[in-house]
Amino acid sequence: RAKEKGRDLYQFYTEGMQDREVHRLELDRDLDQALAGDQLALHFQPQLDLATGQVGSVEALIRWHHPTRGLVSPGEFIPLAEESGRIADIGRWVAIAACRQLAKWSDGPLSHLRIAINLSGRELETGTLASQIRDCLTRWDVDPSRLELELTEEVFIASRPENLEQLRELHDVGVHLAIDDFGVGYSSLAYLRDFPVNLLKIDRSFITRVTDRHDDAVITGAVIQLSHSLGIQVAAEGVETEAQLSFLRNHHCDLAQGFLISHPVPADQLEREIRQGHFETGSLRLSPLNP
Ligand code: C2E
Ligand code: MG
Ligand code: MG
Ligand code: MG
Repeated sequence: RAKEKGRDLYQFYTEGMQDREVHRLELDRDLDQALAGDQLALHFQPQLDLATGQVGSVEALIRWHHPTRGLVSPGEFIPLAEESGRIADIGRWVAIAACRQLAKWSDGPLSHLRIAINLSGRELETGTLASQIRDCLTRWDVDPSRLELELTEEVFIASRPENLEQLRELHDVGVHLAIDDFGVGYSSLAYLRDFPVNLLKIDRSFITRVTDRHDDAVITGAVIQLSHSLGIQVAAEGVETEAQLSFLRNHHCDLAQGFLISHPVPADQLEREIRQGHFETGSLRLSPLNP
């Protein structure tokens, strides 16, 4: 009886695992079509410059409109693409889409905007990332300083030196570098010393409780000070409340990003909202600057 039960259980688990595996394989296979067709899109989430009250930059976040599954989140398909190696094609697609968008915005009210794109460590491994991005910038005639690359701490710590060299090369031509999800990865700070980082993004998990928990507040305040002492700008991720925003203002954080300011939105919506002055202090009912 126990043996039977065990077998049932075993079957239950393996079937569950098989289903998941099949789902993953299908999804990864479908990515080919997504790349070839027009199922992928970039959405843009504004980063509010707290000193000027203007949107200074936007983070590009990939969206996949799957023909039968609907919207599939990057949290689901990026890890798959990293495993299968398709991430290289996705990365190329993202870089082209971002540069085209920058070229489109190059005259008009959005010409000052910088676009930040997310890169995974696997993309550095191809060894051709730097030349690919430089080609993109040249092809679309985009000023390199309007592009920012977001990488997590792990990438700086775990990547081979020759792969990281590509980032240095891109930084040398003017591309900005940002540390994403700061504070939840490896706690080595050596790469802040050894690497030309422009921006540090404090992970959402600290910001979420910054007004409720003393330790999160202390860490956030200290990270802002550390960044500034090193001449690095600092952004807060996942700002959802006015109280969090005023904490960040009072602690002289440079940029704020989160649902309070805006969800990630399609390019045309962003253009419309910036043109209408949607993000300017007052319109958002954000507390006044420098209280
Ligand atoms: P990330 O780079 O840390 O991006 C921030 C994530 O937090 C985004 O999720 C964004 O929609 C979400 N977010 C922003 N503000 C708030 C907030 O106030 N509250 C909450 N709860 N969430 C907020 P998304 O778009 O689902 O992306 C998830 C992750 O997928 C990204 O984390 C990034 O690591 C990865 N990703 C997204 N686009 C790309 C891409 O083009 N290439 C690569 N390699 N990875 C990407
Ligand atoms: Mg990011
Ligand atoms: Mg992040
Ligand atoms: Mg994240």
